[in-house]
Amino acid sequence: MVSSEFELINKYFTSKKKCKCNYIELGIGDDCALIEFKKNKVLAVSNDTFVANTHFLKNIHPSDLAYKSLSVSLSDLAAMGADPKYITLSITLPKLNNRWLFSFSKNLFKSLDKYNIQLIGGDTTRGPLSLTFNVYGLIPKGFAIKRSGAKINDLIYVTGTLGDSAAGLNLLKKKIKVKNINIYNALVNRHLRPVPRILQGQALRYIASSAIDISDGLISDLGHILDSSNCGAYINLDDIPLSSYLTNNFKLNHILNWALSGGEDYELCFTIPETKRNKLKIALNHIKIPYTCIGKIVHKSKGLVLFRNGKTFKFDKKGFDHFGC
Ligand code: ADP
Ligand code: MG
Repeated sequence: MVSSEFELINKYFTSKKKCKCNYIELGIGDDCALIEFKKNKVLAVSNDTFVANTHFLKNIHPSDLAYKSLSVSLSDLAAMGADPKYITLSITLPKLNNRWLFSFSKNLFKSLDKYNIQLIGGDTTRGPLSLTFNVYGLIPKGFAIKRSGAKINDLIYVTGTLGDSAAGLNLLKKKIKVKNINIYNALVNRHLRPVPRILQGQALRYIASSAIDISDGLISDLGHILDSSNCGAYINLDDIPLSSYLTNNFKLNHILNWALSGGEDYELCFTIPETKRNKLKIALNHIKIPYTCIGKIVHKSKGLVLFRNGKTFKFDKKGFDHFGC
């Protein structure tokens, strides 16, 4: 019996057999699969599906849906350090709605043009609204950032701030309130319009020992790095980057919940050897998004330990799991 999304993938879809051709550098288990492309490049491939009411609220504006679903898909390329190149899009629509399609496609192409990405194919069917993106990117051979490369004593970083998206979703669902409309808009925007950290991924491919994008929540996604790298981690909760939108308006226990397990931040969590601190500054300081050291990699036997005010902090919630309880 399997009880979670990841157990399900492991048990039923992760084949122990390797295909005879040796073009596949990396298969199931990372943000992208890697396929040898040319002598000096690998092709990074990832696939994401978005289902109405599961991944987005039914009343989402088509322009937000186009922006968000593409950004989320590109975020996996960012996590590997890839240059995005092509996508395919399979779209299932309940009916033919020209206004909806005009807005969706206009905004899709606005983002594609921004990143110089080409839509090269797809599929169109009728049924409950859902989207599937396949995204393809290129990485110089030997420089893909895998989840498996973290080493003991490496420093752990995250880009941006965590928890805003989860707060934005709670606002949209009317589970929480804020009085100030600017704060409401800023948090909802972080939920509907995540920015794929492509520039950071490209810069990090020469520095980071491992990386993942935070889709299910920091604890869950850092857990994937730790599993793949066979390591543990010490995380200092006082160092988790939080926006003033959160700290000025909500209680710290709510904020920590959102930041640790809310998910959909689409920030990068990555590790670097301590000796590369200066290189990291040079690589990321020109991008106007903060990046923060939140802890370090330790021996696997220590597990994942959270500290707050110098004391260990118990946190039970994991992260989003399609089949979790
Ligand atoms: P991400 O959150 O980075 O998009 P997922 O958590 O969806 O990644 O998937 C984890 C890993 O399992 C990825 O390497 C993905 O390609 C793989 N995977 C997910 N579902 C399937 C499936 N049905 N068959 C094969 N591989 C899968
Ligand atoms: Mg990912």
